[in-house]
Amino acid sequence: MKLEKIVVASGNANKIREIKQIFSNAEIIPMQSLGFDGDIPETGETFKQNAEIKAKFIAEKFCVPALADDSGLCVDALGGAPGVYSARFSGGGDEENRRLLLKKLENENNRSAHFTSAVCLYLPDGTKYFGEGETHGQILFKDTGSNGFGYDCIFYSDDLKKSFGIASAEEKNKVSHRYRALCDLAAKLKKD
Ligand code: IMP
Repeated sequence: MKLEKIVVASGNANKIREIKQIFSNAEIIPMQSLGFDGDIPETGETFKQNAEIKAKFIAEKFCVPALADDSGLCVDALGGAPGVYSARFSGGGDEENRRLLLKKLENENNRSAHFTSAVCLYLPDGTKYFGEGETHGQILFKDTGSNGFGYDCIFYSDDLKKSFGIASAEEKNKVSHRYRALCDLAAKLKKD
């Protein structure tokens, strides 16, 4: 199946930019262009549930194909936290989230972690498709680089052998959890 226009159910400009770069064969429209800039409550317990909640909300509200990503950082030494709570980890913004994470890992040698992304494409008739992807690495001891967003500058990518904060957007997009989730989704759409 080929879709020409897809509305992204996210207010996160960084995510929208990455989705546009990765899913370049369709016209990607931010939900703000339809006049909606509100928060969609993420009440799910998994990335997949939250992606579906967000995509369904926009698909039903505007009767359009809607795409949502729910993603986060899972740290082994913290039993997978902050996970689905990555955006709300500290109660503050990205900077505060990174500070809290580094504090929690202060005396920890096991720095293994991965980003996970679940994407959901929800069509106005209720048909839904999912994709999932991960990218693995290590939590650094301090901010390294200033590219990207969120936890990027404290995440050393095992694939790239450098911090996502140093990697260019093109480099990150070749190995990112979001890229892998969108490839997974695209492969499923191709079959239909
Ligand atoms: P949500 O999917 O909007 O609930 O939020 C995901 C949160 O996870 C973001 O606010 C970031 O803190 C983090 N996150 C997700 N993907 C990335 C990424 O590619 N780089 C850095 N942080 C990310």
